[in-house]
Amino acid sequence: MIITKQKELKEILKHLEGQSRVFLIGCGECSTTCKTGGEDDIKRMKELIEKEGKTVTGYCVPAAPCIAAKVKLELAKNRKLIESSDAILVMACGLGIQSVKENLRAEKAVHVGCDTLFMGAIDSSGSFLEKCSACGDCVLELTGLICPITRCPKSLLNGPCGGQDKGKCEVDKNRDCTWILIYNELKKQGKLGLLKEIKAPKDYSKLTKPREIRASA
Ligand code: SF4
Ligand code: SF4
Repeated sequence: MIITKQKELKEILKHLEGQSRVFLIGCGECSTTCKTGGEDDIKRMKELIEKEGKTVTGYCVPAAPCIAAKVKLELAKNRKLIESSDAILVMACGLGIQSVKENLRAEKAVHVGCDTLFMGAIDSSGSFLEKCSACGDCVLELTGLICPITRCPKSLLNGPCGGQDKGKCEVDKNRDCTWILIYNELKKQGKLGLLKEIKAPKDYSKLTKPREIRASA
């Protein structure tokens, strides 16, 4: 899931300066779960910006699988409302925002309602946790299925570093050292031998951006 955080209203209003009629677009998947671009969040934003003198011409919340896949259809369905607007405010991830821009036929300003933070998982308390950085060269088989690239602040491939103290991370003492977690997991799995293999530097050329997988002909 892509984790987002709504921008401060003050920043949104600054970008909307001089544009009074606004169409809102959310996302029925990740942004709904993050409470940044679901239907309720869109309605709250509508109230907030209307109090500031804007007119919300309409809104849509593209549903599963993802705003990026559904946006074309939603833009077509709402064409008239969008044409009557000065601007579109997208309350979704950066992928969704760019998809709106690329699929929009009308010449309208598109604005960013959310900051995109990371790819994350949700835990039982409702917190979002970053667990994978999409490095393109997964090492989880060697690390007890715990990602050191993402969960160790130094992204160490051979840990722990000398800073771990009683199982806690030197960068944040409230967090467990990821490499101690990896050690414990490998021990449980009877795979401690994996720690003796020095892992070579990763091939970060696989992270060269922009990455793409071309559709086969
Ligand atoms: S090693 Fe970590 S960052 Fe890379 S793909 Fe695997 S889980 Fe994701
Ligand atoms: S203490 Fe552990 S988690 Fe923290 S930076 Fe060092 S190896 Fe990484």
